[in-house]
Amino acid sequence: MRAVLVSPPTPGAKWVEDAPSPVLTPGSVRVGVLECGVCGTDRDIVSGLYGTPPQGQTSLILGHENFGRVREVGEGVSGFRVGDYVVATVRRGCGRCHMCQNNSSDLCETGEFTERGIRGRDGYMAEEYVETPEYLVKVPRSLRDIAVLMEPLSVVEKAVLMGERQISLWERPARVGTHPGPYRALVVGTGAVGLLAGLVLRAEGYDVVAIDRHDDTPASELLTRAGVRHINVAEGMQKIAPEGRFQLIVEAAGSPQLDFELFRSLSPNGVLVLTGIPPAGATFPVSAGEILRTAVLENQVMAGSVNANRDYFLRGMRHLRRFRKLWGDLPGRIITARRPFSEFGEAVAAKGADTIKTVLTWSGA
Ligand SMILES: [Zn+2]
Ligand SMILES: [Zn+2]
Repeated sequence: MRAVLVSPPTPGAKWVEDAPSPVLTPGSVRVGVLECGVCGTDRDIVSGLYGTPPQGQTSLILGHENFGRVREVGEGVSGFRVGDYVVATVRRGCGRCHMCQNNSSDLCETGEFTERGIRGRDGYMAEEYVETPEYLVKVPRSLRDIAVLMEPLSVVEKAVLMGERQISLWERPARVGTHPGPYRALVVGTGAVGLLAGLVLRAEGYDVVAIDRHDDTPASELLTRAGVRHINVAEGMQKIAPEGRFQLIVEAAGSPQLDFELFRSLSPNGVLVLTGIPPAGATFPVSAGEILRTAVLENQVMAGSVNANRDYFLRGMRHLRRFRKLWGDLPGRIITARRPFSEFGEAVAAKGADTIKTVLTWSGA
């Protein structure tokens, strides 16, 4: 079958026509890939920064943001039929730790997990893949044009829920219904993750401000349509000072300097959730005393959030439906380009303020 292969740490990706088709085993499902989203993780893997081929192989099929259709159902599988639309999750647990044994491989404690298209397991930039039902989420026909957004949305769902759970912990001592009004949220970065976070928070009734370093981009236009106030902070964070402080900040920019600055925008009892992955080598001076002192005196929380399990894909699906209801064609416009799989090189290279999400599609699919 045709597939996009990488051999990290060697940079580059190649298109092959003769990758072996996966074998359908009893209890699993064969899925024909329809679409694959491209993101920064793919770009990093193609650059050779990380990525691990499956054991015993020298190359890895790239791709984790997926959408496909069931082609064949293995012996003993119930609940899936040929023709069903599906999205597959990415991480596969270590099988040893408590979290992985309880369907929460996103919280794996041994670090011995694998991830399709990233670490130790072939991904979805191929004609087909084989998977067991526990890692597949069925998608209704009505969402098939935007279902490829489910994987990045699942990551957002986890991060937002983490913040909301923490806020609700603080709410418990207060009497229910006495909170003065909608919560205020700040979204940092307006790539696909930041944009989706803005939409989820709006759909949940938050008053939302989103910041990035650009004006008049497709992302800022969509956010504005959804009622999010967009502010360009290219000239510094003082631009958002008039907005005051926020109960929930969802960061999706991966800039460690900025992460520390964000504490200044966090309200008392506020939660800062980080999803952007900063470069490991970054070192710089910070006002640690001031930041940590305020964190203690104001009960502030900082949390990191990575990956997502099946439950968050299901939450994401509910939100995609809701986005449609609230904003019509808006979610579809997050996909700023569709290209045939053979143009994966151009798709991976495409980035910049005019690109939100590029999706690879099999021509004729
Ligand atoms: Zn991704
Ligand atoms: Zn584990």
